[in-house]
Amino acid sequence: MKFANKVVLVTGAASGIGLEIAKQFLSEGATVIATDLNLASLEALALELGDKFLPRRCDAGSPAEVEALFVGIDQLDILINNAGIGIMQNPEDLQEESYDKQMAVLLKAPIFHVKHAAALLRRSSNGSVVNISSASALLSLPGYTAYGSAKAALIKFTQDAVVTVPGVRHNVILPGLIETPILKDGYGEDAVEKLQQAAQITPVPRLGQSSDVAAATLFLASDAAEFINGAQLLVDGGLSR
Ligand code: NAD
Repeated sequence: MKFANKVVLVTGAASGIGLEIAKQFLSEGATVIATDLNLASLEALALELGDKFLPRRCDAGSPAEVEALFVGIDQLDILINNAGIGIMQNPEDLQEESYDKQMAVLLKAPIFHVKHAAALLRRSSNGSVVNISSASALLSLPGYTAYGSAKAALIKFTQDAVVTVPGVRHNVILPGLIETPILKDGYGEDAVEKLQQAAQITPVPRLGQSSDVAAATLFLASDAAEFINGAQLLVDGGLSR
């Protein structure tokens, strides 16, 4: 039980990568504060996952809601900034509303979670933040105007936080194509079939799974990674190389 007596906050924990991260922490003995917009899904999951999975509704992109969330928290050892949305638009099609939404969820949310979590994390013996960025932050891809910019800025924020929020470790994961519901937002209903073909040309010829990202996240949050601070970890099967 690598995370016994640890309390972990996972944003966007009702689906995909966030849910798998929550499950892996639970299986290693942690208590998980699971936040999402979708409280009904979280509450249904709590029936299955047990009383160490604590559902909380919070719009990660709303600083006021994030501040209110932290009022009830008195121990936090690990923060996982995972909540995300993807709306694929090039600059000439870009809508201000979708730009603002993505920036709020993908960049403002991690920054304001760190703002409110910092003091709690410093009280932990190995307080740590893992931000979920994207390999798209490194690539020039159609449609990733706001998403890729926000994810690139999240890498920059992570590096800066090592210095500006000391006493806490900060690392960032860059997943490649991971088979979760978000792919449908970007690539349509048949996303998995389409992308499975594209995945054949990656050095590890398959789509990634949430468990691939969760395993990397738990490692970075663990005591084994106590000297790892400011790292960028690609979990993309080599896609971006
Ligand atoms: P997903 O759609 O399965 O899960 C995202 C979760 O975030 C959902 O439960 C959703 O309700 C929640 N969410 C969205 N907006 C929110 C908000 N304002 N407040 C709180 N919760 C909110 O997608 P996923 O693939 O599991 O994505 C998780 C993270 O991984 C995201 O940050 C995403 O950008 C990143 N990522 C995913 C991939 C991929 O290929 N799936 C690749 C790179 C990075």
